[in-house]
Amino acid sequence: MNLESFTSREYAVQGNLFRQNYDLKKLILIGEDSRTSLLPKDKRVCRFCGQSMPNTTFKNKAHLIPEFLGNQFLLSNFECDVCNKLFGTYEDQLSKMFGPLRSIFQVAGKTKKPTFKSPGEMVRIESTEFYDKEAVSLTRKDVTDNLFTANLEEGQMELTVHLHPFSLNKVYKCFLKMAYSLLPAETIAADYKHGLYYILHNDMKITAGCRVTGYSVGKNQIFKPHLMLFERKAGSNQVFIHYLILYFLNYIYAVPVPLNLKDLERYSNQINALNYPPLFLCGKNEIENLPIQPFYYDFAPEEPQKGQQQVIEMNFKKEDLQKTVSFNPETKEMNAEAVLNPETLKRIIIMDRENDGFILPLK
Ligand SMILES: [Zn+2]
Repeated sequence: MNLESFTSREYAVQGNLFRQNYDLKKLILIGEDSRTSLLPKDKRVCRFCGQSMPNTTFKNKAHLIPEFLGNQFLLSNFECDVCNKLFGTYEDQLSKMFGPLRSIFQVAGKTKKPTFKSPGEMVRIESTEFYDKEAVSLTRKDVTDNLFTANLEEGQMELTVHLHPFSLNKVYKCFLKMAYSLLPAETIAADYKHGLYYILHNDMKITAGCRVTGYSVGKNQIFKPHLMLFERKAGSNQVFIHYLILYFLNYIYAVPVPLNLKDLERYSNQINALNYPPLFLCGKNEIENLPIQPFYYDFAPEEPQKGQQQVIEMNFKKEDLQKTVSFNPETKEMNAEAVLNPETLKRIIIMDRENDGFILPLK
């Protein structure tokens, strides 16, 4: 697939190195209406466990990519109910890792308007209406919780949200399941039998680590969710064969797909996970001032990660914060002389977010 991609000057060398080694095989725009035609159930074979009817069933609607990421249309022809149930537990962990993000940006999945409740419902984020306009409401239970800080001089407010514990390894298996769903059936059958075993069982470890790298790109621009699957070019021997990249809200997750049989031959020669550069399918102007922050994680730990938190940053115009008006939703009373006191703030309603400006793939 020939698509022009861009990166910032800082990543130009890394970008060229990656392009020299990889071809883009698949680009999936999540949420686009690209319906899959489904086979009759008695003709289906589960790609993961190898079973077909009557040894297994295909009653559930199985999604190639989790529905909560906004995928309604890409359905699976090759995922039986038993595997679907297991993968559902992985998706649940991925959803916990994203925490309040989907609710803030109102990414519609199975529920049209996702609501987020932090542990103990200390913070609740949901869709609401304010003067007949769609808005997002952030409510905190206890104004003495210290989760909220404001710097009115700078026009910044921050709300810290605790996440529900989640297992990094199950999130990793969720990424791999997406990769295995997007690859051709022949490739999966021929080259990924260890990979399939790994995502279906608990007794196999990847000793080299479960590598996930990526980038966060600041809060002011968000991606239209999309996935890219890269394949190693012929002649390029020392890197992983497949690479899965997910662009979601303001994050990029890059996962070298492990356990390809052809890669295993090379594991002894130190196979190299070439770092994925932040590639964008849009031009210079949009990415010029993006604050690109790289990250690296080992997703091997299985036990749920506790105490993880996410900080929601809100930026306001300084002038606006100085001319605030108080409004009592019960009495509908307005007070034009009010001074904003962040310490007493119980609920924030965000509307007309500036920059619904998605970084659009494919202009
Ligand atoms: Zn199955």
